[in-house]
Amino acid sequence: MKRQITIAIDGFSSCGKSTLAKELANQLGYLFVDSGAMYRGVTLFALQNNLISNNDIDINGLLKELPSIELHFELNDTKTPELFLNNINVESEIRTPVVSTFVSQIARIKEVRIKLVEEQRKMGEKGGVIMDGRDIGTVVFPNAELKLFITANIDIRTERRFQEMINKGMETTKEAVEKNLTQRDFIDSNREESPLKQAKDAILIDNSHLTRQEQLDLALSYVQKVAKSQRLYSL
Ligand code: C5P
Repeated sequence: MKRQITIAIDGFSSCGKSTLAKELANQLGYLFVDSGAMYRGVTLFALQNNLISNNDIDINGLLKELPSIELHFELNDTKTPELFLNNINVESEIRTPVVSTFVSQIARIKEVRIKLVEEQRKMGEKGGVIMDGRDIGTVVFPNAELKLFITANIDIRTERRFQEMINKGMETTKEAVEKNLTQRDFIDSNREESPLKQAKDAILIDNSHLTRQEQLDLALSYVQKVAKSQRLYSL
C-alpha cells in the first residue's frame, strides 16, 4: 500500500501558497486544504451576524456563536475545494475585500484557532494532505514530512493579487491591495497565538522570479527527496 505523507506550506499573504498546494495535490492525488479559507469563513460569519461594526469586533459575541459555525469543503466541477459555511457555499464571499480587512483580527483570537486547528488536524489525520496557511508546519502538523515556507517580494505579491481581483471583476487599487497585504503580514507575524514564522525544518522558497511551473518542479523535487529518504517508492 502507498504511504501518503503530509505536506505543510506556510508563508506570507498572496505569495501563491494555495496555487502551489493545489497543483501539488493534483499531481500527487492528495487532498488539498486551504486553511486560510476557514479563517475567512469565521470572519464572514461575524460580518453576517453583526459581530463586526465600526471596525470593532464583538469577541464575546463571536465566542458564544463559535459552536454554531460549521465549515466544510466540497469539490466543484473542476475538483477544486470550495468552502461551505453552515451548508451554504461561500467561496466567493470569503474572497471579498471586507473579509480580507478583518480576517487577521479574527485569526488572532485563541478560541477561533483552537476550533479550526482541531478541524484541520482531523482532515489530515490519515496523511495524504497538503495544507497551506500560516501555522501549518509550526502548530497544525509539526511532524509533517515536508514543510515549505513560501515568500515573494511585496511588489510582486501586490501585482499578482491586484490582477487576480481585477480578473474577478472586483474594484480595488494597487495601493489598497498592498496596504491589506502588509497589514495582514504584520498582524499574522506579531500575534501571540501561533504567529506566522518559518518552522526550523522548513525549506524556504522565494518565488519572486519563478514561474508557476518552475515553482511546482522545485517543490516536486523536494517531494521526491522525502520519498527517497523515507524509502517510499511512490507517494
Ligand atoms: O491564506 P489567506 O490569505 O486566505 O488567509 C487569510 C488570513 O487567515 C491570514 O491573513 C491569516 O490572518 C489567517 N490564517 C491564519 N492561519 C492559517 C491560515 C490563515 O491565521 N493557518
